[in-house]
Amino acid sequence: MRAASSRGLGLRLVLVFSLIATLCALAIAYYVSQARQQVGADYTALVTDVVRAQQDPAALRMTLDSLIDRQDRIHLEQIQALLWRIPRRIEGIRLQLRRSELAPASYGELVDELDHVASRLPALEAAVDVAAEEGIDARGGEAILVLGMEIEEGLAWAYSELNELLHRASAEQRLLMERLALAVAVLLLLLLLAIAAVMRMLFQLHRQRETMRLQSRTDELTALGNRRWLREAAGEAFDRRRRHGAPLSLMLLDLDHFKQINDAFGHPAGDAVLVAFARTLERQVRRVDRVARMGGEEFAILMPDSDLAGAEALAERILCATRAMALPGPAAEHRLTVSIGVVEAEEEKSFDRLYSRADPLLYRAKADGRDRAVSGHGHAAPPSAGGGVPGHHDAGAVQAACEGGPRR
Ligand code: GH3
Ligand code: MG
Ligand code: MG
Repeated sequence: MRAASSRGLGLRLVLVFSLIATLCALAIAYYVSQARQQVGADYTALVTDVVRAQQDPAALRMTLDSLIDRQDRIHLEQIQALLWRIPRRIEGIRLQLRRSELAPASYGELVDELDHVASRLPALEAAVDVAAEEGIDARGGEAILVLGMEIEEGLAWAYSELNELLHRASAEQRLLMERLALAVAVLLLLLLLAIAAVMRMLFQLHRQRETMRLQSRTDELTALGNRRWLREAAGEAFDRRRRHGAPLSLMLLDLDHFKQINDAFGHPAGDAVLVAFARTLERQVRRVDRVARMGGEEFAILMPDSDLAGAEALAERILCATRAMALPGPAAEHRLTVSIGVVEAEEEKSFDRLYSRADPLLYRAKADGRDRAVSGHGHAAPPSAGGGVPGHHDAGAVQAACEGGPRR
């Protein structure tokens, strides 16, 4: 009697746990890669635009410097091109800032500055237009320079601050994402631990239940199955018989004059004899046979796939083996014998029915003088009061001709 189902459950739990652990690992890997991508994507476009926009004040300064050196029309045209580009760039960046996750308070001052710059652009445009049409005089050139420098400084400051702000925000976001990823990993790990603990508990609970189930079906002294266990085994055997028409036999055994062993050698010696007898039975049976201790010095053997002839042959072997048994301890000199009743299932559909047909045969074996087996070929006749095999056709004595053992 072994708890094979505990191992099965253990294997299933390990498989389920491995599956959950793999899913968690995949989830973490996916989350971390997504978080990284997200961090990269969020600010990259904005940073690129700001870096590009920073070229505007630089170009404006260069053009203004060139204009100071040489008041050429080409510089005015360059400023006009810049004046076309700058407000569009400001608008684009303002739009992206609004769409970004940045807190408006963090860039409010910079947008104000860009607005201020934008508000000064028409004045510069007008001055450049006048200079382009009428030529650059000293006053016009001065106005262009003052306005241009004001715009250049405003833009340079706003864009450089914005660049710094974005780098800070990007770094913070990356840190936050990494912390989040760590938190997710820790949470998943905790979840895995919790699942592992629950599974362990389930497994232990199952093992305890299995042990209890086994204990409630095991005879403590001989470690054989008990009556409950045999009845369950019989249920399966009757199913098999129903499905495949396989024969099924039952043997009841009761040790002869067992009380004398207890009386003569003491209860512990009697116990040792019971254990030795259980081992003898186990040695005689096939793997498919089910040996049980029904209580006291009574045993039973359920024999699936065995007809009456096979069961009788086993009964013979058991009679011989019992007589030949070397008893343990103080009872060593005692000769043990057993009485047996044997039946093959016919109409019966339950263990109890089969048992109730085997029981009178056992008592007939007792009445006939013990140390023998009586087998039944149909519904049993009541045990004969006078002993001996009655002239009834449905029960017969099994003759045990033991090789090397005592012959009867
Ligand atoms: P019979 O041949 O008619 O079967 O005689 P018997 O002495 O074997 O039968 P009886 O029913 O008179 O006595 C059975 C004895 O088995 C009495 C009881 O003390 C003993 N017995 C029952 N269970 C145990 C046990 O677990 N250990 C021991 N040592 N003895 C037991
Ligand atoms: Mg008895
Ligand atoms: Mg007895």
